Amino acid sequence: MISLSVHTVVLDIEGTTGSAGHVHDVLFPYARERFAGWFADRRSAAGRSAVPDALEAVRADAGDPALTEADAVALLQRWTDDDVKMPSLKTVQAAIWAAGYADATLTGHVYPEVPRAIATWREHGIGVHIYSSGSVDAQRNWFTYSNHGDLSGLLCGYHDLTTAGGKRSATSYRKITAAIGTAPRHTVFLSDVAAELDAAAEAGWQTVGVRRDDDPRGPDVPGHRTVAALDQLRPTAPAPGPAAPG
Ligand SMILES: [Mg+2]
Repeated sequence: MISLSVHTVVLDIEGTTGSAGHVHDVLFPYARERFAGWFADRRSAAGRSAVPDALEAVRADAGDPALTEADAVALLQRWTDDDVKMPSLKTVQAAIWAAGYADATLTGHVYPEVPRAIATWREHGIGVHIYSSGSVDAQRNWFTYSNHGDLSGLLCGYHDLTTAGGKRSATSYRKITAAIGTAPRHTVFLSDVAAELDAAAEAGWQTVGVRRDDDPRGPDVPGHRTVAALDQLRPTAPAPGPAAPG
């Protein structure tokens, strides 16, 4: 058991609260085979305005203003295969997954101890946020349509590539600190990836690695104390400091 003195816990999704395999084996293929149809549907059903937005976003990420819709589809497929963290890919994936969640084709995967662990932390006055490369919409749907029911009421906020930036840059954690208003030393980030925890530590946050029992990378995230499940953490709110003088 690891005790932490924090006001806010920030959670990664893939490999930390949910299965990385679910992302790569279920969600990525689900969106990948629907990119072309999604562009076509938006063009016919929603009028012409929505498609140029997504197409422009892909063009901007690719640095190529001349990309056609077919080029964009091919590029989104390649980025999916290479797991490239491009904001436009995340936006299109989230839109496609939203339809799958809505018709119950998809559910978000959450490890069994996670709902109770987060609920307990909230009962103790701890704020709980999500920070993932998946877009804020995709994160919210993951927890709203989870395999343990609607968990969105347990969460205080969501942060992604667009709102914070990449997870291996200390700047991103400083942006989240500015957004949530908790002192860095009273914020902890939980992730399965050492480089992300290193970046959070550089921003002054506490860090805890998470490695699930079946993880082929082994039981420890190098350089960080590590747990195998979230119920091995006991976060408590720091005692109030002395009143400011005057
Ligand atoms: Mg992860």
